[in-house]
Amino acid sequence: MAKDLAKYAKEKGVKFFLINFTDLFGFQRAKLVPTQAIGGMQKDGAGFAGFATWLDMTPGHPDMFSLPDASSVIQLPWKPEVAWVAGDPMMDGKLVDQAPRVVLKKLVKRAADKGWMMKSGVEPEFHLINADGTDISDARDIAEKPCYDQSAIMRRYDVISEICSTMIELGWGPYQNDHEDANGQFEINWNFADSLTTADQHAFFKFMVKEIAEKHGLRATFMPKPFAHLTGNGCHVHVSCWDAKTGKKNLFHDKKGDLGVSEFGYHFLGGVMKHAESLVAITNPAVNSYKRINAPTTNSGATWAPNTITYGGNNRTHLVRIPDEGRFEVRIADGAANPYLLQAAILAAGLDGLENKIDPGKRLDIDMYGLGHTVKGAKKLPLCLIDAIRIFGKNKTMRATLGDDFCDAYIKLKTRDWNQYCQQLTQWERDTTLDC
Ligand SMILES: [Mg+2]
Repeated sequence: MAKDLAKYAKEKGVKFFLINFTDLFGFQRAKLVPTQAIGGMQKDGAGFAGFATWLDMTPGHPDMFSLPDASSVIQLPWKPEVAWVAGDPMMDGKLVDQAPRVVLKKLVKRAADKGWMMKSGVEPEFHLINADGTDISDARDIAEKPCYDQSAIMRRYDVISEICSTMIELGWGPYQNDHEDANGQFEINWNFADSLTTADQHAFFKFMVKEIAEKHGLRATFMPKPFAHLTGNGCHVHVSCWDAKTGKKNLFHDKKGDLGVSEFGYHFLGGVMKHAESLVAITNPAVNSYKRINAPTTNSGATWAPNTITYGGNNRTHLVRIPDEGRFEVRIADGAANPYLLQAAILAAGLDGLENKIDPGKRLDIDMYGLGHTVKGAKKLPLCLIDAIRIFGKNKTMRATLGDDFCDAYIKLKTRDWNQYCQQLTQWERDTTLDC
């Protein structure tokens, strides 16, 4: 539903628009545009120098314009004179193929052409920390098993309730808030939607949580593993596919299917299982991500981050869990995942699963943490970012589905990220190697 942003501003009393786009590393960029100029911007887009962001461009490239998608507009409940609108980067009159939102939109269209759409809900965990980022913000939050700690969530009631009330106002249907498994860690759950809406909401959620935390003198982080001894920040995704026409028929649901999942659902899952090893480059995109998925047991006794490629029923020790009829939960991603690429990666894998009727293999009903060693031949996730990037780089199916422009740019910039990390000399190296 296209909206006239100038009219919208007049009706809602909006003075400024944040015309946004999300780059390859998930950074959100924006121009703050006064309402007086929004008419022209809605037609032509807001101008950016693409190379100054995490996109693979040089100063020799022409201006890039983020064309606002008016259907995504959100008035900031905590600052109603400002509205946020997601944009699609354009250059020379064409969509920028490496831009994450463009990548996702193309796959959404490809699925729609086949008669279905992916719907998803995300669970981005975050820590509330002190302003300088050195520790969690609540000195009394020290329980060994702090998950669902009633007193700890009430000590952060002002922040969590403000975020949740904001989401109610936005109509997202939040339904629960909890203190998660790490000291200082929280999660807020809201209704699922089509994958593009969820991606826009996920992007906005990260922005909103940080802004509201800051208002309260705190800082929010979605970093996968901000503290070595505590559980890290995951971002589980609940997935189902629906008919594209009405969006009302769940194609994953079959009462007679195993665990209430249809053949369609199992083929989609087959794609996710087949490509999981490569998807990690996108779902777990930071050097730091691999300190979460390959972490030793934390203070609370769990990492909540399965690192073997298996699936099961309602069992949290597998990479994919089927918690209920008609959907499954991909438990691979972390807080650094780019909201758009996260959806695109799952969708791309699912498309291949459906097109080639991929069998996901046998379901396992064991505790993978305790008995994982008994499963012969189960693949493990890559141990570090560069391994993940190399595996992703060799995956021809992912390349064909996500596009050469995106894959080339992503692999190039992420390899640069890894090389920069390798230039760091750590205390651990000095401690263990000085006397070699
Ligand atoms: Mg959680």
